[in-house]
Amino acid sequence: MNTLHRLDGHLHLEGVALETLAERFGTPLYVYSRQALQDAYQAYDQAFAATPHLICYAVKANSSLAILNLFARLGAGFDIVSGGELARVLAAGGDPGKVVFSGVGKTVAEMRAALNAGILCFNVESVSELHRLNRVAGEAGKVAPVSFRVNPDVDPMTHPYISTGLKENKFGVPIAEAPALYRLAARLPNLKITGIDCHIGSQLTDLSPLADAADRVLTLVDTLASEGITLHHVDLGGGVGIRYHDEVAPDLAAYGRALAARFRARSEKLLLEPGRSLVGNAGVLLTRVEYLKPGEDKSFAIVDAAMNDLMRPALYEAYHEIVAVFQREEPAQRYDIVGPICETGDFLGFARDLAIEEGDLLALLSAGAYGMSMASNYNSRPRAAEILIDKNEIHLIRERETQEGMMAGERLID
Ligand SMILES: *Cc1c(COP(=O)(O)O)cnc(C)c1O
Repeated sequence: MNTLHRLDGHLHLEGVALETLAERFGTPLYVYSRQALQDAYQAYDQAFAATPHLICYAVKANSSLAILNLFARLGAGFDIVSGGELARVLAAGGDPGKVVFSGVGKTVAEMRAALNAGILCFNVESVSELHRLNRVAGEAGKVAPVSFRVNPDVDPMTHPYISTGLKENKFGVPIAEAPALYRLAARLPNLKITGIDCHIGSQLTDLSPLADAADRVLTLVDTLASEGITLHHVDLGGGVGIRYHDEVAPDLAAYGRALAARFRARSEKLLLEPGRSLVGNAGVLLTRVEYLKPGEDKSFAIVDAAMNDLMRPALYEAYHEIVAVFQREEPAQRYDIVGPICETGDFLGFARDLAIEEGDLLALLSAGAYGMSMASNYNSRPRAAEILIDKNEIHLIRERETQEGMMAGERLID
């Protein structure tokens, strides 16, 4: 189902005209489609149906409680990277027994909280972390389930800031050192080895690096088995890309078949940690044109959304399609779409051809992932409200932040 569509020139998400939402809730405004979220989850579930699997949604892509709750009700597990994300998963009704905890800097307090919640597994990223986890588990009278995040050293052919599986970055342990680490973990009294994981990068549009990583990890699993170290699960991370512009998103069914062939004769359960590919195309960011500023060389459309609302263009030079919510008949003109923040880097898109006037609404597409979850208060701007559309129903799932709320924890001194 095409959840984003035009009716008489007016952009709708499911059964709701986006103009109605902007009038009622103001802008900037994130709007998500329940149908699109469900469709994305079910496409994953079906693509991997031939292999016993658990989809652990990567919470950092979009950590809004209503979205976590939707995925929990569909049966998802969760990939978390902080104690804050664990608290959100629990508050949203997620099953702690389906939570994997990734990240290079887990604190003692975060380890304790995760042990108390009874998570599925800690994805350990260093020797020091392994020793700390063993100690914290011992103090808590618990046995910590562990998996090592190995770095399979495959080049995911993506943007350098979002590639994580190469030797030179901070994530994971080198795959060659993993056998020695598993032997060490097996000797530590308060740990139980349960799995292995990797995550090689994000926004991958080619499946071959993912398949290469799977092969390298599975070879290691067999080596470990020959030493008597058996694993319950193999977690191949996230990273499946989506279409923002002219990319071709990987074929999930083909990914599912490639892994089914590799897992057919194996006993380990397959875990996946998709983030972007579950939420990215399910949301748009609505913004209003405040000013048109024509220039000799270029013209600007200054809108009320900015880099604090959607950081991806400023941070990664990421491309988001930008469309007029109401299609005018006039010929298009070329604009740089920029926000009001006092930074040259505060842009949302360059050289976009649009027929717009001041006061018009624009929609930034594919804004469901790493949009709201990366939003900040820079320039003392309140974070946007969020709406979840369910057919014709409109749900406000997060109120717009207030000035009082932003200042609430601050104190003056004498
Ligand atoms: C960010 C992240 C993911 C999700 O990545 P996507 O590209 O959004 O699918 C999965 N696992 C880990 C460990 C991550 O850090």
